[in-house]
Formats: sequence, C-alpha cells, structure tokens
Amino acid sequence: MAYGVTVSHDLDESIFRTRLRAVQAAAESAGIDAVLITPGPDLRYLTGYEAVPLERLTCLVLPATGDPVMVVPNLEVLAATASPIGSLGLGLHSWGETDDPVRLVARLLPSAKTIALDDHMWAEKVLRLRAAMPHAHQVTAGPVIHPLRMRKDATEISALRKAGAAIDAVHAEVAGLLRPGRTEREVGRDIAERILAVGHVSVDFVIVASGPNGASPHHEVSDRMIEIGDPIVVDIGGSMPDGYCSDSTRTYSVGEPAAPYRAWFDILEQAQRASCAAISPGATCESIDEAGRAILRDAGLGDLFIHRTGHGIGLETHEDPYIVSGNTLRLEPGMAFSVEPGFYETGRFGARIEDIVICTEDGFESVNSRPRGLAMVEVA
Ligand code: ZN
Ligand code: ZN
Ligand code: ZN
Repeated sequence: MAYGVTVSHDLDESIFRTRLRAVQAAAESAGIDAVLITPGPDLRYLTGYEAVPLERLTCLVLPATGDPVMVVPNLEVLAATASPIGSLGLGLHSWGETDDPVRLVARLLPSAKTIALDDHMWAEKVLRLRAAMPHAHQVTAGPVIHPLRMRKDATEISALRKAGAAIDAVHAEVAGLLRPGRTEREVGRDIAERILAVGHVSVDFVIVASGPNGASPHHEVSDRMIEIGDPIVVDIGGSMPDGYCSDSTRTYSVGEPAAPYRAWFDILEQAQRASCAAISPGATCESIDEAGRAILRDAGLGDLFIHRTGHGIGLETHEDPYIVSGNTLRLEPGMAFSVEPGFYETGRFGARIEDIVICTEDGFESVNSRPRGLAMVEVA
C-alpha cells in the first residue's frame, strides 16, 4: 500500500506545481511582476498549506518568472514544512520575532513594479507592503487566481460531491428537529452538532428562519419559537477536512402553511428547475439567473426574489462564478455554483431552494439530492 500512498502524494504535488505555474503565467500576461498570497483559500489552493491568518506575516511570494518562495515566521516553519509546501521544494525564508518580514518581502522583489495581493490580505499588511515598496503598484490577485479556482478539476468535483452528500445527511434529520415550541436557536445548535457529526470540520453557517424571519435571506437564528403553520427556511453549510464547502437550503413547514404559500412554493420549485435546466457549457451566468427569475416574474413574484440566483463554491462558500444578471461569463464544464432562487415577503414568510451544481459536458450534476419540495413536518 505504500506505493499507492507515494503515488497520490506525488499527484498532489504535481497539482500544486501546475497551479503555481498557471498563476505565474497569468500574472506574466497581465503585466504583474509578482503575486503575494497570505494564509487563506488562495494559499491553500496553490500550496495545500492550511495556515491561519495571524498578525505575523506568512506569505507566498510568487514572481511571474522564477522560483516561488515562502516567507514564514520561525515558529511556524515546522507547520509549513509538514504541509505539501515541504515536499514542493519551495524556498523557505523564515524570520525571527524581531525581524521585519515586510522588508524581507521587499528585498525579494527589488525591481517589482506591479504586485498583485491576495484578495483576502489584511489591510494592515497591504499598507505595510505599500510603505516598504513605494514604487510598486498594488493590484488584487483575484483576476489571476479566481479564473483557475472557478474551473474545478476531478479531485475538486469529487470533494464537492462528498461535501454535498454530507450536508444532505444533515437535512435528512432536520424535519425531526422542528417542533412547535422549540426556538430557532435550539434547532440551530442541534443542526450545528450534526454538521460536524457527518464529517465537516467546521460549521460555516446555520440559518433557521421560521415564519416571518424567513423573509430575511441571511437571518441566522433567534429565540423565536416555532409555531404551527410556520414555513421554515433552513440553509446550512460547513467545510470538509479537505477545505471544500457545502451549502444547501431546504424549506420545511410545520403543519400546513396559510395560502398562498404552497402555491407560491410550487412556482419556486419550477423556477429552481428551470435555472438548472438552463445549465450547459456556453450558457452565460446571467442566463441561468434569468431562466428561473422569468418564471417567478410571470407569476407576479419577481419583486420578491431579491437576490442573485447563485454563487460559485469550492474552498470558499462564496466565490466565482456569480450567477447574476450582468455576468456574461460563459459556463464551462467543471464550474460549480449554487442555484438558489427564493421569495421573501416582509412580515410574512420566505422560501428558498438551494442546490450546489456542477456544469458538465452536456448539462449539470447536482451534488445535493434531497427532495426539493416543501418538506412537511407533521404536528400531532
Ligand atoms: Zn478569493
Ligand atoms: Zn448559497
Ligand atoms: Zn445557502
């Protein structure tokens, strides 16, 4: 079995080498001299190093041409070399507690005129780098990294499938947690426990939006008690050990909701299906949004669908591509994103159906497969 382990390890390294080279090539053609990446999803994507962003500077210095190096605090050298960084053979520049790591970075890039900074870099580090490299023009690194991250490879697709199956397993238990008299917060705690129990390493968000709270798409939990007749929007997600995220919404109803909820929900289901059916290589992101939105609009519910249809997902819950009017980006096989139309009527209720889907050669694959209809919770 040692052979298999070695092979998969080599494979991982080659994935990171390929990604690093692809960013270098993109930087070079964009006229960027170097890309600086601090801990976060982009560092994890490019090197496999899962570091926590802290005040001490950890930074991948990726010149458009030449060898990448890692700037790492002394006390984190062991952690860095235990990650794939160790076997990637990146040059390591460690710094001690009284050194100035920003000046170290500046010395590594003496003639850089344009440097691209990690979109997630702390402002404090951005400004210190600006002061240390006053002649370098700063731009964001997203445009050279996100196009790569947006196109998932086979390993990433299988990671998203696993994350999807895990969050489906939580939704399978949600109806059993919803009872009149329980608060959203109590239900949310139970859901969070289950998100971890099914294999996630973090609970990224838990939305239990009952009755009128459903009208706020990003409501989390409150002390409101569930009542008979409440529709309840449950939108939950977490991160798996490999960093890939889950995100799925189902809408439940504790007893029969008052009219016209069920009729509207049927229209919402049609809208979600229509957006999914519109997915194919070459279709624009905005056309996926429009396919579902048109159905809600035709039914007079257009004004109640107050957000975009979806967002890309991978190492971050929200990343490119965004499924929104105005985004003319054309889908390609391997792009992964949410399809999550909803309707929100202030003071009354809300609804949302959300799946994570992957664009395939001839359509789409959903990584979520729980029933999409209004999930009824029987009350005695
Ligand atoms: Zn990003
Ligand atoms: Zn989402
Ligand atoms: Zn969601």
